[in-house]
Amino acid sequence: MKFRPPEAFAASSQGYRLLPLRFRRLPWNRDRVFVSSLAGDWLTMERAMFERFVRHELDPTDPVLADLQARHLAVVDLQRSALAPLLSQYRTRKAYLLGGPALHIFVVSLRCHHTCNYCQVSRQQTSKTAFDLGADAARLAVDRLFEWPSQELTIEFQGGEPLLNFEQVRAITERVVARNETEKRSLRFVLASTLHDLTDEQLAFFQTHRFKLSTSLDGPEWLHNANRPRPERDSYRRTVEGIERGRKALGEDAISALTTLTKRSLEAPEAIIDEYRRLGLHSISLRPLSHYGFAAKTRERNGYDTAAFLAFYDRALEHLLAVNRSGYSMDETFASLLLSQLLGPFGHGYVDLRSPTGAGFGAVIYDYDGQVYPSDEARMLAAMGDNSFSLGNVGQPVSEWLASPAMHRLMAAGVAESLPTCSDCAYVPMCGADPIEHYARQGDAIGHRPTSDFCSRQMGMFDLLLQRYETASVADRQILESWALGAGADESPEVALDAAA
Ligand code: SF4
Repeated sequence: MKFRPPEAFAASSQGYRLLPLRFRRLPWNRDRVFVSSLAGDWLTMERAMFERFVRHELDPTDPVLADLQARHLAVVDLQRSALAPLLSQYRTRKAYLLGGPALHIFVVSLRCHHTCNYCQVSRQQTSKTAFDLGADAARLAVDRLFEWPSQELTIEFQGGEPLLNFEQVRAITERVVARNETEKRSLRFVLASTLHDLTDEQLAFFQTHRFKLSTSLDGPEWLHNANRPRPERDSYRRTVEGIERGRKALGEDAISALTTLTKRSLEAPEAIIDEYRRLGLHSISLRPLSHYGFAAKTRERNGYDTAAFLAFYDRALEHLLAVNRSGYSMDETFASLLLSQLLGPFGHGYVDLRSPTGAGFGAVIYDYDGQVYPSDEARMLAAMGDNSFSLGNVGQPVSEWLASPAMHRLMAAGVAESLPTCSDCAYVPMCGADPIEHYARQGDAIGHRPTSDFCSRQMGMFDLLLQRYETASVADRQILESWALGAGADESPEVALDAAA
């Protein structure tokens, strides 16, 4: 039996039928529009041509119509199924939903040596072992981990400084590996650490279990030490030594770094990128400040608005392209994720670019006290006294977490395609929903996109990258395409962006 499209899509036509689409006039050229399909295929075209298209004024043999058809924006042959290829593409883009959460973060200690004033964690002094994950909670958390259906599990250890409770890192890893003898899942271990206190014994353990290490490096020494103070003012030296030791033991690709941008950082995009190059790093994450934890308290001093971040990012992107043109490959992680959304058919696991939201649907956090959260931001909210997004504790089965009021809130506000403003936005097939950030910033999980920092940043980044791609030389285009191709290839996108040490 032939598939018959719903009446809504079978509008009267001059030989072709429109499929559901959204469009946006390009801010840098008001005579052109970005047009996207339900499944995220897109093109840019002259506005006048677009108007003729939606009025059914194009000739069915017009090559523009063939292009529109290839991107699931129109159907020319009315005898053939209109929606099957579109739906297949849609399923491909949302395939991440099928497995359930793949990223499982164990917060093994809140203790830390640093006193970073941008810290989004409710860090504690190194002597306060009461803020370590205990053996009973760790054992239960591993049991819960295997209740999730995902065949691929990334187990990430975070803090505070997780090496301050290495005993529990070891115990959890060994328990997971033993249980996996029968479970046969694909496992990946990650540690987000300053790398300052790595011992030979720890490195040997990480080598055995093929750990990836993620650390924070904010740029050159003056900037890193200013952003990440220690009483001895030696954070930069110790981080660089940790990176070198990690590389020697685990291999060049096993260590990644990310930078958190303070107001001071915004003045130095070139210096930050050059520092990464000097250290032989081929990827950088230019991560804006968090709004949680200590970062919320010091926002006045360290903070900046989205326009300032985007201006910084524009400068950074130009410098990164120049570095790549000079023969040294280096990508920016978030740009790579956005470009892969724009230029590829697949969706990926990064929480801000998933709809339904990645919180709880893509990631789960097991906190030091046995409480469980759908995202790090939910954990931070709880640390600030608001338990609205707490799923429960490790003593409860996963089914109870899924039935929790927190998951209901996330489901109600976590589908971008159904949110006010997003539902009409041409970028929505590649964007995501972030109900917890909107709840935290605007007091409402659905939020108000016209005044939302999240939306300004997402839209600004899509515009910036699209404009740069559209106007790029052949060489720059190839660089940007290589970033899209490499996005998440050997790195969990969640880990690449969210693993803050
Ligand atoms: S958050 Fe903003 S950019 Fe993203 S889909 Fe919604 S309206 Fe568009």
